[in-house]
Amino acid sequence: MIVVTEELTRGSLGAAGSLITRPEILSKALLKGGTEEQKEKWLPQLASGDLLCAVAVTEPNYGSDVANMRLKATKTEGGWLLNGAKTWCTFGGKAGVLLILARTNPDISVGHRGLSMFLLEKPSYPGHAFEFTQEGGGKLSGKAISTIGYRGMHSFDLFFDNVFVPDENMLGGPEGEGKGFYFTMAGFAGGRIQTAARAIGIMQAAYERALSYAQERVVFGYPIGDYQLTQVKLARMATYLAVSRQFTYSVGRLMDRGEGDMEASLVKFFTCKTAEWVTREALQIHGGMGYAEEMPVSRYFIDARVLSIFEGAEETLALKVIARSLVDNAKAKTEVEV
Ligand SMILES: Cc1cc2nc3c(=O)[nH]c(=O)nc-3n(C[C@H](O)[C@H](O)[C@H](O)COP(=O)(O)OP(=O)(O)OC[C@H]3O[C@@H](n4cnc5c(N)ncnc54)[C@H](O)[C@@H]3O)c2cc1C
Repeated sequence: MIVVTEELTRGSLGAAGSLITRPEILSKALLKGGTEEQKEKWLPQLASGDLLCAVAVTEPNYGSDVANMRLKATKTEGGWLLNGAKTWCTFGGKAGVLLILARTNPDISVGHRGLSMFLLEKPSYPGHAFEFTQEGGGKLSGKAISTIGYRGMHSFDLFFDNVFVPDENMLGGPEGEGKGFYFTMAGFAGGRIQTAARAIGIMQAAYERALSYAQERVVFGYPIGDYQLTQVKLARMATYLAVSRQFTYSVGRLMDRGEGDMEASLVKFFTCKTAEWVTREALQIHGGMGYAEEMPVSRYFIDARVLSIFEGAEETLALKVIARSLVDNAKAKTEVEV
């Protein structure tokens, strides 16, 4: 998955693209908490690519603060009614299934223990807006947000008005009630390692463009690649790229053994920030042309910028996942020694 994501993002098969992280997130969440029936139903469809899915976790008032999400799920005959809003739901229109984090326990004081996950089946809609009305009258509407980059994927504001989800579509069945936060975190670990791979693909593409432009562009009588200042830039870029790639592969191997959830955040934190710097240097080597939309480096620069925001913003990863895990481990070690 890492290698394929990297190659697609690099654009080695033609136009730059990416494997999307959503099937990775949903699959990991299903593997963590899904019932056997749910795994049998959904995993093959996701693996074959027959079913496009989207993840609806972020809300207008709560993004990093996942534990505080408010979209309301109310019990009704045979299922749950969803009411409220989600935002930034990427592929929310095209997707045939949405993975939704909702509050099944209205008592806010129970925090993340009041959250559950649901799988909502819906028709796939092309374009930038849609409205889905269920037979029972529930309505889901969506509108895409205009963005400065990643224009090939559309992220939607979603509005839920009495949207019905059957009982069998609560992740984990009745036992899954109140465990949505943990399933979300398990899913995000998969999304994070994949985003690290995207960062590598973008860095590789940016580095290659910078290297070839440095041979072509003549300034003050010589190709800019002949100047030591440019050579040092390229050497640094190549170093960060190599380190990021090996780091990502090593975390991927950990995750294959069922470990490495914290390390997935660590590697995402590092590679995404690094990709911002590498694409910035690649753009700089292109001079004014780097700022022109016709040059691929301008797109790499813009696309790299969002990597440290989605799948967990870098500050949240640092505070809530990495630092917390390091401190907890240190405390546990001290207790054992005492
Ligand atoms: C292109 C794109 C696609 C996306 N796709 C999806 C999707 O498919 N599904 C989905 O659910 N979401 C999606 N998101 C949303 C994304 O996951 C959120 O934007 C992200 O989690 C951050 O939440 P927020 O935007 O609400 O920022 P906020 O939570 O409002 O945070 C704002 C800033 O404050 C920082 N911050 C937070 N806590 C602290 C603190 N304690 N101290 C200091 N700084 C802090 C954050 O790191 C951030 O920099 C997408 C976003 C984008 C831009």
